[in-house]
Parts: sequence; C-alpha cells; structure tokens
Amino acid sequence: MRITALAGGVGGARFLRGLLAHLAASPDPARRQAAVTIVVNTADDVTMHGLRICPDLDSVMYTLGGGIDETRGWGRSQETSGVAAELAAYGAEPSWFTLGDKDIATHLVRTRMLAEGATLSEVTAHLCERWRPGARLLPMTDDVVETHVDLAGDDGAVRRVHFQEWWVRLHAAVPALAIEPVGADAARPAPGVLEAVRDADVVVLPPSNPVVSIGTILRVPGLREALVGTAAPVVGVSPVIGGAPVRGMADACLAALGVPTTAAAVAGLYADFLDGWLVAAEDEPPVRAGLTVRGRPLLMSSPQATADLAGAALDLALDLTGEDRAA
Ligand code: GDP
Ligand code: CA
Repeated sequence: MRITALAGGVGGARFLRGLLAHLAASPDPARRQAAVTIVVNTADDVTMHGLRICPDLDSVMYTLGGGIDETRGWGRSQETSGVAAELAAYGAEPSWFTLGDKDIATHLVRTRMLAEGATLSEVTAHLCERWRPGARLLPMTDDVVETHVDLAGDDGAVRRVHFQEWWVRLHAAVPALAIEPVGADAARPAPGVLEAVRDADVVVLPPSNPVVSIGTILRVPGLREALVGTAAPVVGVSPVIGGAPVRGMADACLAALGVPTTAAAVAGLYADFLDGWLVAAEDEPPVRAGLTVRGRPLLMSSPQATADLAGAALDLALDLTGEDRAA
C-alpha cells in the first residue's frame, strides 16, 4: 500500500507519527508494509542570520525521527540557546525567532549544501539519513517559495512581511489583508511529488493549516491537478474542532481568505478533490455529492488517540476504494 500525505509542521507531524504507529501495530500485513510519502510545505521557509530554515520539514523530520521537543511541539529536544544569547549580545536581529543550538546545526548543514549546489530534496534526503523518519519526506518544491502577508500599517499603507514575522513576532494578532505564497506560480513540484500523488493507493490530508500549509502546497503548479486526477481516494482530517483551530492561529489565516473557521468551510477549500472527511461530532458536517463524512473525536490528545485517528482516516479511505468513484 502506498500512502501519500501532504503536511505542514506541528499538526501534520503529530498526525503522521500516529499514522506510522498505527501502521506498525496493524494486524493487516498490507498496512504493516505500507510505504508512506510525505509532501511537506516549504512556504514557511526563511533565511535568518544567513541560515536557511525549513520549519515544517524540520518539524516532521524531528517528530518522526524522535528528536522533537515534545512540550513545544517544534525544535530539538533538550535544546540550549547559547548561540541565541551571543547573537542578542551583538544586538543581531531578528531576535524574535528562536534558534536553538542543536537546531542551528541542521540549518548549517542545509545552508552549506544549498550553497554548494544541492537541491532542497537532496538536502532533505541527507538530513533524513540521520533521523530515519520511517517515511519518504519530499519538499513540495525545490524552488524558493515564501509566504508573505499584507498588513495594514498605522499610516494606512499596506506593509508586507514574511509569514514568520506575522506568525511568530506578531502572533497573527494584526489582521492579514492578504496571504500570498510568493514564487509559487513559477515553482516546479520537487522530484517525485506528482508521482507520489498520482500513483498512491491512498492520499491523506492531516489536520494541517488549510491556508499556509496545505493551501500553499496546492498552489504549486500541477499539485492540485494531480489530486483531482489521482485514482486514489483523498481523505482529510479537519484541523477545526468546535469551530476553532485546536492549536495555532489558523482562524486568522482563514479570515484573510474570507473563509469561516468551520470544518465544513475547510472541506470546501478541497472540494474539487476531497472524497472523505473526518469531523468532530460537535461540528456541522459538510454536505456535498461525492464526499463521505464521518464524525469521530479528532483531538490528538495522546499517542494512542492519534494513532487511532490516523487508523480511522485510513479506514475511511479504504472503504471508499472500490466504491463508485470517478477517477
Ligand atoms: P504548523 O505548520 O506548525 O502550523 O502545523 P500544521 O500546519 O501541520 O498544523 C497546524 C494545525 O493543526 C492547526 O491549525 C490546528 O488546527 C491543527 N491541530 C493541532 N492540533 C490538533 C488536534 O489535536 N486535532 C486536530 N484535528 N487538529 C489539530
Ligand atoms: Ca508551518
């Protein structure tokens, strides 16, 4: 069984760890031997202090590889901040973006390899030789795509900032007028990405941010078409529970698109390719011909709950396989 997932950072990584745990513990040999490919958002990527940083790739890699800080949900475990303290002593900006010492080693390896001409796909494969995440991690593209956010300035003029500045420094408290993945229109899918979607037996959308994680992946030319055209069932898990994002500020991103923060509205963003959708019992299920909706608990409250959630997504997908689905 070939399973392909599209993912952002923390929410996607947690779900995917549950998926791998579910597969490993399954009595079904097809699930135990399943090959998982994860297409990861790279539009959060940013250069700081000369280092190329890929937050979502690193969150997925550290989480699946056992190196994540479990409490924060991002960054390395047992991290220290000696370099950050030295940078602060120099007054080196930006000071609002946390870079741990261990994490910096990852960025140093990546930045050096990119400078020597490697692609981000090659860098990711190299980093994964250490972390052995148990799945194939593919950046959505090897080209540079960076989400920028338009904010209303005090003087009425529009100010454009990098997504990280809006998210991390401003905590998305300033309303976004627009969210734009700059470079996406000219980006090419990374090697293997379109094939992973087209040739999959199951495609899964974890509960990742529908605008700045899944939404940016869908903006890479060819991705959306591959999802529409794949013979595999495409199933997703709502990132919205009880009309609110569980963690993070996805509501601020949806508001920028004029989309309400509901499980149904998020499913609507995927309407052209989504076959199955898991929603929480308290949320209004979307009603659309061709979309199968199941209600169940969606909180990733423990490793077991997360593995069960992933198993339920897979069950839904496999129940849809063989049913009368238009390719
Ligand atoms: P980011 O790149 O670190 O923001 O991570 P993602 O884009 O992968 O995921 C963030 C999204 O995960 C948030 O918008 C939340 O709505 C969603 N999320 C976080 N925890 C949970 C959970 O326990 N259950 C569900 N269903 N969604 C969650
Ligand atoms: Ca992210």
